[in-house]
Amino acid sequence: MRWLFGILLLLGGLLQPVAALAPAPAPTTPTERSDQQEQVVYSSRRSNVYHRATCRYVRQIKPENLISFPTKAEAERGGYRACKVCRP
Ligand SMILES: [Zn+2]
Repeated sequence: MRWLFGILLLLGGLLQPVAALAPAPAPTTPTERSDQQEQVVYSSRRSNVYHRATCRYVRQIKPENLISFPTKAEAERGGYRACKVCRP
């Protein structure tokens, strides 16, 4: 059975360069969408805090005072800070 082992080793030696030449698997692109970054956030004209749409504080904001930002980055640029309750 030693010869069989030898052939297997030989085959292994032959196959290795082929495996090295095989195309590398495509790099895994980060598929997780940062939805937190792109969610619309809401704020009141009377405060400097922005909230998630689901925050209870948003419901307390009067419609005439309610303002929205397409992203929280936009809100931050406008000088708003994140709500500590809903953590947008
Ligand atoms: Zn909030």
